[in-house]
Amino acid sequence: MKLILLGPPGAGKGTQAKRLQDRYGVVQISTGDMLRAEVSAGSEVGLQAKAVMEAGQLVSDDILIRMLAGRIERADCAPGFILDGFPRTVPQAQALDAMLTSKSMQIDMVVELKVDDAALTDRIAGRYTCKACGAGYHDEFQKPVIAGVCDKCGGTAFVRRADDNRETVGARLAAYHAQTAPILPHYAAQGKLREVDGMADIDAVTVELTALLDTLVAA
Ligand code: AMP
Repeated sequence: MKLILLGPPGAGKGTQAKRLQDRYGVVQISTGDMLRAEVSAGSEVGLQAKAVMEAGQLVSDDILIRMLAGRIERADCAPGFILDGFPRTVPQAQALDAMLTSKSMQIDMVVELKVDDAALTDRIAGRYTCKACGAGYHDEFQKPVIAGVCDKCGGTAFVRRADDNRETVGARLAAYHAQTAPILPHYAAQGKLREVDGMADIDAVTVELTALLDTLVAA
């Protein structure tokens, strides 16, 4: 299964991708996570990307296309993958098509998580993750059962992304509408685009997504 999750920042792509990877035995590929790892490692790519990410803008297509090409070569991608945060521009979508065609592969489905812009700032500004296992939480919408303790691994240290603040969200949403939303017609023309209501609660979104993806597994 090769899936793309599209949607603005805060739509729930990462949350849903984590659930789907367990259910379908495929890997989540988050280019945002990959870039944050490069920033933490202080690599050359990380040094180039850091300021761009903190401003809520998009890192250059060249960097992302190279990064993604290397990632999907790895053995853990053989059963399939869920792209979360890639492609984010039309040139990235075209490069992805070419990359997969050269390996006789193709994307099976593209799901757009639709969410109103007004809901996104609150979603993004309140979110944080467990430092140890990466499980996602939210100050209001998804608290751990025991305050300050990760439900999944018992960890007690949590982190917030540098770009998850009200000031940067506006720029990230603008980048989504200007540069990423134009990808939608690209996949609609291929007959691969489906929509899911990302305003519903997290479990309801998972139910809708799995109903769609089960049709791929059954096919
Ligand atoms: P995300 O975790 O997907 O919200 O990504 C965080 C930030 O990483 C974005 O705001 C961009 O600056 C950068 N980024 C992640 N994926 C891409 C991509 N495919 N193309 C360009 N920039 C990206």
